[in-house]
Amino acid sequence: MSEDPQPQGARARHTHYERARNGVLSPFGDTTGTGLWHIRAGHPGGAYSDLGHELDLPAEHTPTVLTRYDRSGRDDSSLGACLRCTWEGSRRSGPGALNRAVEDAHDHAFPGWRTLPTLPPAADGHGRRRDWHAVAGCYPAGWLDRGAPVLRPAVGRGDQHRPPHAARPRYELRIVRPAGPNTDTPDGQEPLF
Ligand SMILES: [Zn+2]
Repeated sequence: MSEDPQPQGARARHTHYERARNGVLSPFGDTTGTGLWHIRAGHPGGAYSDLGHELDLPAEHTPTVLTRYDRSGRDDSSLGACLRCTWEGSRRSGPGALNRAVEDAHDHAFPGWRTLPTLPPAADGHGRRRDWHAVAGCYPAGWLDRGAPVLRPAVGRGDQHRPPHAARPRYELRIVRPAGPNTDTPDGQEPLF
């Protein structure tokens, strides 16, 4: 039995995965999609996400994450990917793999994102908007419209990056910063570029 050719890139791989799951590729064979990379559920273009399903390509490079299931059914590995092009990051596995893959995808779409200002720990309602307005002006031109990420301090080890959704069309990245005075204060930050 010849192997199906593996496509490259988030959109092509996800389509291939769905075709396998629908029995299009091998009508009487495995329809679980085991071993096939696909967009992780909840991330742009994946199941349960309300972003990234448009038929037209986005105008700009757009981060997402690929995952696959091994024979035991465990979700073990992640790849950073892009909804605009066929770029894929390195395979990440083990503890922290998902976060690293998300960060890889942002290195591709928003090189230099690690220097963006970090918001204070999550506030509610008015506080959240106030905090956001305080740092939004520090973003490079055009980055906000393109979905550049929000950075917040990680809450404990293993805090996962939050995927975007229609109400917040940008990833919220949980950043581990060394402790120090004023590291999270947006006041006085210089524009990045
Ligand atoms: Zn891209």
